[in-house]
Amino acid sequence: MHANNETGVVQDIERLAPIVKANGSLLHVDAVQSAGRLTLDMQQWPVDLLSLSAHKLYGPKGVGALYVRARPRVRLQALLHGGDQEGRLRPGTVPTHQVVGMGEAYRLAAEEAEADNRRTAALKQRLWHRLVELDGVFRNGAEDACAPHIINLAFAGVHGEALAAELQGLAVASGSACTSASAAPSHVLRAMGVPDQLAHSSLRFSFGRFSTEQDVDDAVEIVRAGVERLRRFSPIWRAYRNGEALATLYDRAG
Ligand SMILES: *Cc1c(COP(=O)(O)O)cnc(C)c1O
Repeated sequence: MHANNETGVVQDIERLAPIVKANGSLLHVDAVQSAGRLTLDMQQWPVDLLSLSAHKLYGPKGVGALYVRARPRVRLQALLHGGDQEGRLRPGTVPTHQVVGMGEAYRLAAEEAEADNRRTAALKQRLWHRLVELDGVFRNGAEDACAPHIINLAFAGVHGEALAAELQGLAVASGSACTSASAAPSHVLRAMGVPDQLAHSSLRFSFGRFSTEQDVDDAVEIVRAGVERLRRFSPIWRAYRNGEALATLYDRAG
């Protein structure tokens, strides 16, 4: 993944590519979260495959694109069979309206990216600066390593899913949609070294072209109320306020 969907953390493709190549592997980059927001330099990147999805960038649902490097040539095996379209890789009639919709969404993104990024980064900072005042709020993912539109926060002493349920009117997530059927903490946060308990306390917030300062201020109030409500019943939070280190508390809680 170029930009991670849960944390916004951006991977350094130019540094990772040689490691992949040295092992004789192809490099497939999932650029769904970064395309249209960050620069994807296909001339410089030794990337073999790169995937895109329209609906994360205000295009229609149900359409995406796969970039396949022509030289050196990447050979693909069809997963779907039946028709000869798209070099026998994708049988069926091309849905023109979907393709045009995606193209237009990406064209608009190219025009708007700079302004969108500036705006979403400012909104993200606004949310962070106000929520960090709550104390016991941590940011998952280094500030300068993240895409402008995603922030992932841990609220000590609070269960992320319980908090998400408290936040009426806010669309936040405690993990990705892909793992929403699982109660396990986010594998992304675990891989980053976030302790399980804190990973369980984390929520992802994202910002878009149509988010406003008023949205952020409303969100801050809703989150603040939810966190304070849940912390009243949280023994971990009480111990933390009494000066115990979070790491110790979480170690003890397993
Ligand atoms: C949403 C998302 C996908 C899946 O794309 P869909 O078109 O919704 O299936 C893949 N990768 C990342 C990083 C995403 O955010």
